[in-house]
Amino acid sequence: MIAQFKALFDARHEKARELKQQGTKIIACFYALPPKELVHAAGMLPLQLVEDRDSKYEARSEFLPYLCGMSKNLDGQIGAGVFDYVDGIMVSTVCDTNRHVLDIWAQQKTFPHAWLVRAPAKNDEGAVNYFTKELKRLAHELGTVSGTRVTDEGLRKSIALFNQNRSLFRQFYQARVRASIPAEDAVYVFASALTTPVEEHNALMKTLLSSLPSARPSVEPKLMLCALNIPMSVDLIRLAQKYGATVVTDDFTHNARYGSTEIEADGDPFRALASGYLRTVPAPGLYSFEDRALGIRAAMERAGATGMIYLTQLYCDAYAFEYAVLKERFERWKLPHLRLDAEATPGSIEQLNVRVQSFVESLL
Ligand code: SF4
Repeated sequence: MIAQFKALFDARHEKARELKQQGTKIIACFYALPPKELVHAAGMLPLQLVEDRDSKYEARSEFLPYLCGMSKNLDGQIGAGVFDYVDGIMVSTVCDTNRHVLDIWAQQKTFPHAWLVRAPAKNDEGAVNYFTKELKRLAHELGTVSGTRVTDEGLRKSIALFNQNRSLFRQFYQARVRASIPAEDAVYVFASALTTPVEEHNALMKTLLSSLPSARPSVEPKLMLCALNIPMSVDLIRLAQKYGATVVTDDFTHNARYGSTEIEADGDPFRALASGYLRTVPAPGLYSFEDRALGIRAAMERAGATGMIYLTQLYCDAYAFEYAVLKERFERWKLPHLRLDAEATPGSIEQLNVRVQSFVESLL
């Protein structure tokens, strides 16, 4: 049954085109802070832009070579017409790159509509007031595109659906170690959530949770993987397995929103959404470093992981800065970890062979 998640993820473009033909508008989201509940409440499908490891996309990118692999890959996919079904893009600022990539796409009129989500890095009264207004502005503009006005009631229903998805994810992460779910399969459970209608994903998650296999012993040492790029993560999981380790849990920051706490749906739902996103969704610089480090350590403890791999992309300052701060905590806690920095190109992970092997051996 778990294979269905990978199949859904692999067929994400066909599925989006099918929905588009049936009249659903598709809004692409770049990183974790675009409020997907708003897009859903406006009657459209929020779909995360994710990398696709294929050298033909690197060749199609018009971005400068020293930009991160993530942005070059996405631009290559755009150049190849992969996202021909997208009606609009919503970018939340995480770094200078993704902020200015939006400017380029807007200037080139790559998508019919483009929105910048200006999420404050604080969550005090002023920040929540500001972000509530920002969400109302976005809701109005999204409603103009879809023809469906975002009402309080509609937004509450959307929040409830995404909250259910968060809750199911938490249950899955608690159960996956017990059920010894292969790490690669687990990647697609969350990856498909980024690109599948939430109702469909919730239904599939419920079926999965009710049919998880009984426990099989995991191979030692057990690892946690912190990463951003899905194809790179799959390669790294295979590499760790090659040297005898098992990845038992993970954290993919830009979609850790699914593991974040539920959003209160009482009172003004726009304000609830604003409070529910600010400082609660892991994103470098917009989220407490202390909480992020504690969250990683707690996830390792829950899963029984004795080591952690923190994978960043070459030329990605945002996650490099985050690591520089987290590293101090990890060292203080004597948390065994390996930081890897690699380009998101085919074969890049293979070059890390020796480092992964020696890290795994150091944990035995
Ligand atoms: S956070 Fe890093 S990987 Fe993501 S767009 Fe910015 S530089 Fe690229």
